[in-house]
Amino acid sequence: MNASPSCVFPLVVAPYVKNDKVNLLDLEIKELTNFFVGLGEKPFRAQQVLKWIHRQGMDDFSQMTDLSKALRECLSSLCEIRAPLVVQEQCSLDGTRKWLIRLKDGNHIETVFIPEKDRGTLCVSSQVGCALNCSFCSTATQGFNRNLTTSEIIGQVWQASRRLKSIQNNPEENVPFYKCLITNVVMMGMGEPLLNFEAVVKALSIMRDDLAYALPRRRVTLSTSGVVPNIDRVSQEADVSLAVSLHAANDELRNRLVPLNKKYPISVLMEACKRYAAYKPGRHITMEYVMLRGVNDKKTDAKQLVKVLQGIPCKVNLIPFNPFSGTEYETSTVEAIDAFRMILVKAGLVTTVRKTRGSDIDAACGQLVGRIQDRTRRHAKFLAKTSKQKLFLSD
Ligand code: SAH
Repeated sequence: MNASPSCVFPLVVAPYVKNDKVNLLDLEIKELTNFFVGLGEKPFRAQQVLKWIHRQGMDDFSQMTDLSKALRECLSSLCEIRAPLVVQEQCSLDGTRKWLIRLKDGNHIETVFIPEKDRGTLCVSSQVGCALNCSFCSTATQGFNRNLTTSEIIGQVWQASRRLKSIQNNPEENVPFYKCLITNVVMMGMGEPLLNFEAVVKALSIMRDDLAYALPRRRVTLSTSGVVPNIDRVSQEADVSLAVSLHAANDELRNRLVPLNKKYPISVLMEACKRYAAYKPGRHITMEYVMLRGVNDKKTDAKQLVKVLQGIPCKVNLIPFNPFSGTEYETSTVEAIDAFRMILVKAGLVTTVRKTRGSDIDAACGQLVGRIQDRTRRHAKFLAKTSKQKLFLSD
């Protein structure tokens, strides 16, 4: 017999309370279990509710038919299931979809879904803007506002699944069902996930949970520009795949491309990758390398990269640079990318070239910008710089 649910706030939920209601999207299974136990309920209620929320995409407690009416009413009065709102959808010619998502405080972020023959990848944001200022990334030009909460991160997956299900169920949309399935998630949207550690790790555990999205470890990837102390933490506290945004094989160049390198230089980053590999034997780290014409795409760069990666179980993903308005960089030529790739392959490194998707709607890597209230004044500076360049060009 269940104890009748009490409608008094259990103490255990206090840390998650933002307004007056608890947003259940903020809670992973352990926290949800504590929440129900705090209500005087059986722990397995958490499993039922997690399934309703994430498998069924439900946000209405009154429809959770395997809960008693009293419990449903209690939940409606205490809690909410509130994801950030999708306010715009753009669909690329190649089927990629980009959603503009409005947060409670008026900031906007972007989430992208990339359907391919054998998989559907959701690219999720972790912060409003980004604080890192990588010189080839368009999100950087927007500046930074704040970290996303767990509900805002997992809420992107929740909204995307609901939208894709409704597309799948609508014959007028005429989209084959396999193009509506999220099989992979990459934390490669706006922001640096390892600078928002707790919220990101919680969201990752919900993505992995069999009662929620049930994504296998290999299909959830966290990409970092190299926040070394948190690479160590992630190996202990999350069970996902790791990608590292390397982009250069010497410190002088990497300092320019990824300024975080001044804090954690390549040798320190590679040591962290070795420690990670030692904790997680048998796993490969993906090394991301953006191909910038005449900047990091020469044969000598490739040879240097081979040396840097020696002894690290990894594969390399070459990303053709995606241009954006005001950038000083250009994409490497197809020939340069191929020659670069061949040097790595000959040295025994598995190397792939990322296909550019959704560029006609600015949904490709590094093109996500949202609409954010910049707290760093970087956006204003970027606009001033680009308008000066335009004046100069039209002189
Ligand atoms: N902050 C994280 C995740 C965000 S970006 C990180 O740095 O890894 C995801 C990937 O896209 C990173 O490898 C990033 O360096 C790359 N990227 C950013 N801007 C790009 C651009 N304009 N063209 C191609 N790739 C870009």
